[in-house]
Amino acid sequence: MRRRRVMVVDLTTERPTRALYARLMNANLASIMPQVIAVWCEQAGHDVRYVCYTGFEDLANEVLEPADVVFIGAFTQAAHTAYAISSLHRQRGAITVLGGPHARCYPQDATRYFDYVFGFTDRTMVEDLLRDPAPQRPVGLRLTAPRQPESLPGVQERWKFVEATIAKAPVLKLVPMLGSMGCPYTCSFCIDSTVPYQPLGFDQIRSDLRFLLSKMRHPRVGWHDPNFGVRFDDYLGAIEDAVPPGRIDFFAESSLSLLSEPHLQRLAKNGFKVILPGIESWFALGNKAKTGRDVGAEKVRRVADHINMILRYIPYVQTNFVLGLDTDEGAEPFELTKRFVDMAPGAFPVFSLLSAFGRAAPLNLDLQRDGRVLPFPFHFLDASQAMNVVPKNYAWRGFYDKLVDLERYVYSVPRIARRFIANRTTIPKWMNVVRGISSERLGRVSHHARVRRLLESDRSVHRFFHRESSVLPGFYANRVKRDLGTLWDALPVGGMVHDHNAYLRSEASPVA
Ligand code: SF4
Repeated sequence: MRRRRVMVVDLTTERPTRALYARLMNANLASIMPQVIAVWCEQAGHDVRYVCYTGFEDLANEVLEPADVVFIGAFTQAAHTAYAISSLHRQRGAITVLGGPHARCYPQDATRYFDYVFGFTDRTMVEDLLRDPAPQRPVGLRLTAPRQPESLPGVQERWKFVEATIAKAPVLKLVPMLGSMGCPYTCSFCIDSTVPYQPLGFDQIRSDLRFLLSKMRHPRVGWHDPNFGVRFDDYLGAIEDAVPPGRIDFFAESSLSLLSEPHLQRLAKNGFKVILPGIESWFALGNKAKTGRDVGAEKVRRVADHINMILRYIPYVQTNFVLGLDTDEGAEPFELTKRFVDMAPGAFPVFSLLSAFGRAAPLNLDLQRDGRVLPFPFHFLDASQAMNVVPKNYAWRGFYDKLVDLERYVYSVPRIARRFIANRTTIPKWMNVVRGISSERLGRVSHHARVRRLLESDRSVHRFFHRESSVLPGFYANRVKRDLGTLWDALPVGGMVHDHNAYLRSEASPVA
C-alpha cells in the first residue's frame, strides 16, 4: 500500500480564544477516537500528524500543513470550522473525512463539504479508505460500521498523541480513557441512548493504568464512558488490581442510580475525585436518579440528600440539568433548581438547553415532525448558546426570563461563597470560584440576557425564534463571522445554513 501523509485534527473548540478557562480546560476535552484513528493509520504504515486544536494554536501552521488524507473529529458547534478546514485542504488536493458527533448527527449536510463522512468507525473502514482514497465530489460518501468496535487502542498505543495533548494543559492534565460505549438507559434526548451498552476489555484497563503509573508521577484519568460504572464491580476490580489506592485520580460521568453509598466508599478509596451526575429534570427521568416516581419538591429533597452524601466521599461534584424539557411547565422547575442549589450548596450546577442535534436522538424525529426545530447555525448548537427547540410549555420571553434569573442566582457572589465554604478541599473550592466567574458561566449569563433583550427589541430575532422567518438575525450572523476569524473566508458557500429537518426527510425518503 502507498505510504500516505495523514493529518488527524481533533477540534475541541470552534474558534481561537484567549480565555483563562479555555486555557485550563480545552486540552482536557480531547476526544479518544481521533487518537485511535491516528494509531490505526500509523499501524497501517502511514505518516501521521495529529493536532488537537484547543483555540490557542496557529491554525495555518498546524492544521493546514500539506496532507493526502485529512481526518477531522468535531462536535456540531465546531462544524463551520471543520467545513472551512476541509475546504482549504480539498483546494490543495487532499481527501477529507469527517467523524465524531457532528458526522453522526448531520451526515447529509457534512457530505456537502467532505469526501467521506464516518458514522461508527472501525479499523477496516480506515484501512480501506487509505488504500484507495478516491475523491467523492460534489457529494461525499457516508460510511458506517455495523456497530461500535469491540476494542480500541488503549493509552499505551495512543500515548504519543495523549502526551502531545496534555502538554497543552498548564495545570490539570487529564488522560482520556474509555471503559465502555453506549448506555443501558434510554433518555430520549441523548445520543448514547440508542447505542447498545458494551464494556471494553478489563485487561486492557489494567495494563493501561499500570502503563500510566510508569509514565506520570500522579496521573489523572478522565473516563469518557457516557455512564461510568454500569458494571461497577468489574471496573473497580480492574482499577484495584492495577492501582495502589491514591496513586491515580479519576474523573467520571455517572448516573445517580449507580452512586450508592457502598459504591461511593469504594470510589473514594480508589481515588475518584470528580463525579458528574446527570439530574436533568425534577419531573422526569426518575429511574436514572433513583428517585422512582417522586417528582417536584420531593425529588429535589431526595436528590439534594444524595448529592450531599456524594460530597462526603468525592471532593468535586458537578450536577447536570436540561432546561426546557416537555415535562417542565411554569416557574416551578426553575424555582426547584434554586432550592436544590441551596440544599446542596457544594455541587457546581451546569445547565443545558434542550437541543435537537440532527439525528442524534429518537426524540428529534418527533420534534422535527412537529415543526419545533429552529434553523440555528451549527456554531450555536452547544446546548447553551442557543436552544434550537421551541419549548412546549413556555413562550420564549418567559423562558429566557426564568433562565437568566436562575443563572444569576446560581452564579451569584453569595452562591459562589457558599460553594467555597461547602467544599472541603482546596482545588475544588477554587475550581468552583474560577468556573463561577469565568467566561464559561458569566459569559453565558450575559449572552442569555442579551438574547432576552433582543427578543423584545430586535424584530428579526423575534421572527426567527417564532418561526415567522428563517433569515438568520444579524446578531447571530455577525457572531459566527467574528468567531471564525481568518477561517470565515474559507467557509464554503452555503456552509452557514443546513436543512434542520433532514432527519425527518431522510426517514420519509431513506435514500435522501
Ligand atoms: S443515562 Fe446519561 S448517557 Fe445514558 S442515555 Fe441517559 S443521558 Fe445518555
